[in-house]
Amino acid sequence: MKQKEDFEVTVKLSKEAVADIVKPYKDVIDSLEKRIQRLLDNAESAKIRELEIENAHLKHLLEMSPVTFDSEKELKAYKKFCKKHEKCQLSAKENGGKVPYIVLNGTGVGTCKKVICQVCGKEQDITDISVW
Ligand SMILES: [Zn+2]
Repeated sequence: MKQKEDFEVTVKLSKEAVADIVKPYKDVIDSLEKRIQRLLDNAESAKIRELEIENAHLKHLLEMSPVTFDSEKELKAYKKFCKKHEKCQLSAKENGGKVPYIVLNGTGVGTCKKVICQVCGKEQDITDISVW
């Protein structure tokens, strides 16, 4: 039986882009945690909830890479999606550097993979079911 090959890659972004994405979020998380603590001290519960949600969201984004693709087909689908949303990525740079793409590994049935353009919100299932 032919063994399934794994294709492991990191999110296809330039080194500068990755550094730009991760570093600020870490700083923001630290900063948010300090603000949350200050707000807790002041018992401003509504603002605390808001910041906690924002913080959780940022932490979630950090956990999403690196990504493992299960086949060349998935990698190709991912690259194709990125190519399609290149303009989004460029516009994001002008918009304060939003995360261009994220890949979600589904926790449900199988290993469903979804790539999402963080700029326009479009998402695509890139799962290659032939490798299951
Ligand atoms: Zn897009």
